[in-house]
Parts: sequence; structure tokens; C-alpha cells
Amino acid sequence: MSEPASKTELFAGVDLGGTKILAGVFDADLNCVGRAKVSTKSDRGPEEVIERIARCVRDAVDECDRDLKHIKAVGIGAPGTVDAATGKVIFAPNLQWEDVALKKNLEKELDLPVFVENDANAAVLGVYEVELASKPRHVIGIFLGTGIGGGIILDGKLYSGFSGTAGEIGHMVIEVGGRKCNCGNQGCFEAYASRTAIFRKLSEAIAAGKKTLLTESLGPDLKDLRSGDLRKAIRKDDKLVETIIEEAAEYTGIAVANLVNLFNPQVVVLGGGVIDALGDEMMAVILETARDYGMSGAMKGVDIVATKKGDDAGIVGAAVLARRQSK
Ligand SMILES: [Zn+2]
Repeated sequence: MSEPASKTELFAGVDLGGTKILAGVFDADLNCVGRAKVSTKSDRGPEEVIERIARCVRDAVDECDRDLKHIKAVGIGAPGTVDAATGKVIFAPNLQWEDVALKKNLEKELDLPVFVENDANAAVLGVYEVELASKPRHVIGIFLGTGIGGGIILDGKLYSGFSGTAGEIGHMVIEVGGRKCNCGNQGCFEAYASRTAIFRKLSEAIAAGKKTLLTESLGPDLKDLRSGDLRKAIRKDDKLVETIIEEAAEYTGIAVANLVNLFNPQVVVLGGGVIDALGDEMMAVILETARDYGMSGAMKGVDIVATKKGDDAGIVGAAVLARRQSK
């Protein structure tokens, strides 16, 4: 006897990043049954990136010996402001995208329904569904990667705001007249605690003559520097890296305090490549700073945690989105 359709339904989740595209195929219980990864190559323009996304989905489907026709819907998290209703990416600075009809073009490529969300919104949805067993009502997600993304869940639902752009936590201004941000503004949180910001600060310090173990292994221009190299350097007592990471953690703590004061969530979950690599080094400072700056009434009982889903939060969340939207 064949299983009921709802049991055999599969969903694909895609995490579209500035440097890589991840795709996962998930069953109805959100177990990952196939996955694939390709580089983004955003410099080749949106058309080619969308072809690469389609290829990545096909690879993930092939990986689990299924066919595209077994997929009910595709969810995709994109790094920028997204109009979820039309599936358009309005502005994605890390991809150099403006007004790209992602849903329409990917649906044409795959002949499947596609649902688009901001990547951090998708990731917080994924963490919420698969990791937070207590199902808190209000959750804030902050993801420190190439940029900084955020997602807000209120009463169990993604809060998208008036025109769908809510949750741009990375672009909260936390330093008046501060560092220039990719969005064109100055002083954004993203300009202080994203991987890009951390790497930039390191390069500036090295140019100013500061010493770090990193130049010994990677050369003066820090070629191929990864967040994991920073963790190794800190464990070898590299003072420069330690200071720069501590500053990034402090800014993150300030952002957490602001968000807790505003939303009074039960859980603030932190993730992304920087937290994956440096969570052990950063979480204590983030917690301490958040407690220092958060109002005591708002902070009481709030859990501030790092996700254990790592890179997978994005693809799981995108699959959750596909499942929620295609019902
Ligand atoms: Zn900004």
C-alpha cells in the first residue's frame, strides 16, 4: 500500500548567500534527505545566479534519488529586502540586485511553486520550528554572516511589517556618524559586527602596524581569511583578534538589548557564520552587554542562545516557508 500523499511530500529549501547557494530537500517532518551546494557567482548577474539556484535544487533532489515532480514547493531565503507577496528581491546589496523577479524566474526554471523570503526571516522560522521545542510566542533571530540579518516572530508568526521589510536588524543605526555600511548608510550594526566588518577592522589595524598571528599564516593581505582562523588565533592568545571580536560582541549585545527593550521576546537566538565559528568566544560578552544595557523588566527570563543548526538554519527555514505557504 502506498503511503498517504502528505507523508511522501517533499519540500526544497534554498539559502541564497553572497558567496554560496545551499539547497536541501526535506520530508514533511523536516528531516533533510538531500542537499547540495554551489557558488553564487553574483558578478555574473541575476539571470545566471537564478540558473545556478535551479541547478542546486536539482542536485539536492538528485542526491536523494528523487525527481523534481516529488517536490511540492520551493522556499528560498534571499539576502536583502524582499516583497514576499510578489517574490521580488527589492534590494540585495551583497548580490548587487535591485528589483529581481526571483519567484517568477525560478518558477519558470523549475516548474514548481516558489516562495521567497528574506534569508534571516527564513532562518528564524527554521530555528523556531525545529529547535525551539517550548514553542515560545515571541522570538528574535540575529544572524551574523557576510552581512547581519534579523527576523522577528510575534505570536508564532513572522512579523513582516507594513510593506514586508521588517526585521532589518543589521541596519539599526547604533553609532551616529559611524562606519559606512553596504546599504549606503553610516553607523549600522552590520558595519560593526558582520564578518565583513570584522575582517575590515583587522585589515585596517594591520595597515596601521598592529601585530597579529594571522599575517604569519595568511600573509599581510589576509588572503582566504575565514572566521575559523579568528577562533584559532584567539585560542593562541592573539590580542588584536581578541579585541576586535570582543568589540563585535559588545555591539551585538547592544543590539540585543535594544531588541529586548522593544519586543520583550522570550528567546533571542543568535546564528550565522560568525557565531558558528566564534560563539564560544562571543556569547559571554553578548550576554553581559545585553544585561548591562537592557531594561531589567524587559530582560527578566529572556533566553539569549546560539542556534545549533549552524548553516542549516537557512535551508530548513526556507523549507518551513515552502511548507507553510503551500498548505
Ligand atoms: Zn546599513
